[in-house]
Amino acid sequence: MANRVKCLIIGSGPAGYTAAIYASRANLQPVLIEGPQLGGQLTTTTEVENFPGYPDGVEPFQMMDDMKRQAERFGTQFVSGVVTKVDFSVSPKKVWVEDTKEYEADAVIIATGASAKYLGIESERTYKGRGVSACATCDGFFYRKKTVAVVGGGDTACEEANYLAGLCEKVYMIVRKPYLRASEIMQQRVLNNPKIEVLFEHNTLQLTGEGKVQGADLVYRKGEPDEAMKHIDIDGFFLAIGHHPNTELFKDYIACDAEGYIITDGASTQCFKCENAQMGKCENEKIPGVFAAGDCADPHYRQAIVAAGSGAKAAIEADKYIKSLQ
Ligand code: NDP
Repeated sequence: MANRVKCLIIGSGPAGYTAAIYASRANLQPVLIEGPQLGGQLTTTTEVENFPGYPDGVEPFQMMDDMKRQAERFGTQFVSGVVTKVDFSVSPKKVWVEDTKEYEADAVIIATGASAKYLGIESERTYKGRGVSACATCDGFFYRKKTVAVVGGGDTACEEANYLAGLCEKVYMIVRKPYLRASEIMQQRVLNNPKIEVLFEHNTLQLTGEGKVQGADLVYRKGEPDEAMKHIDIDGFFLAIGHHPNTELFKDYIACDAEGYIITDGASTQCFKCENAQMGKCENEKIPGVFAAGDCADPHYRQAIVAAGSGAKAAIEADKYIKSLQ
């Protein structure tokens, strides 16, 4: 027997929790499915210093717990578990949690976020939160006057390297190809910055250090006759090799861009219908009652405050939609 709800929110990052605060205050009695990473991507960082309202900074788990309690206060119900299946072709929309619990909801807010890509080397996990980061804007401040490395050669890597060069003593860029993939202007900024040293055709083998990152072992032109090993002394290791939005589950129903980010209706958070995403046959027709907020629909900003703002928008739109059904 399905649980019938007015508003179902998928995801427990800043977008999901903010949507829950707004939806519960609008008396929608929302149910929030927390997903695999309680608190979202933010909890992989060390301290949050750029979220307004915390003048002394805040530990990320604390901030997410604050948001959760705020949503709870107004009646949000939390369900721990992972959404395994959805059916948005029907009204009310259907959502399954771990294939066992079934929900029927008038409105669904997707706030499943995005995940940074990692290289997949063992030491990345060992030093996560102790020198390994995937967000220069979040964590760069902790490396003031220190030496860091940024992995990647795209626009994100160049942007992060430039940002870090404003704070750090020295920035290495570890680029696997003999060239940067970033836009010309970003390349020029990197190449003209005296604090940035680009190590072309290098790959990271492992990170080293006593309890925190202190260095990286690299290989130059692996497999080529001139292959060579290189060690760099660093305090921080920043991944900038792309993100992937957590939207796989929804692709048969809603339109996503080539990278998988959910396409919304301009300033609105409303999603578009996609009858058969695999065949690229997406319709320019909105899907009533399905909204997306936060990083799963935002390839550009990827900031907690932006995600929170879009969560508020999604809840306001869900409220309007639900009222229109009455
Ligand atoms: P991209 O996919 O453009 O670049 C990823 C980079 O990481 C590439 O240099 C790639 O190398 C490298 N890489 C990927 N996997 C590995 C790996 N396993 N080991 C080492 N290196 C790896 O991602 P971005 O996040 O930079 O950009 C995503 C999109 O967002 C792009 O369209 C970009 O233009 C846009 N963007 C625009 C900005 C702006 O305009 N201000 C700012 C940031 C992003 P390789 O080249 O060899 O594949």
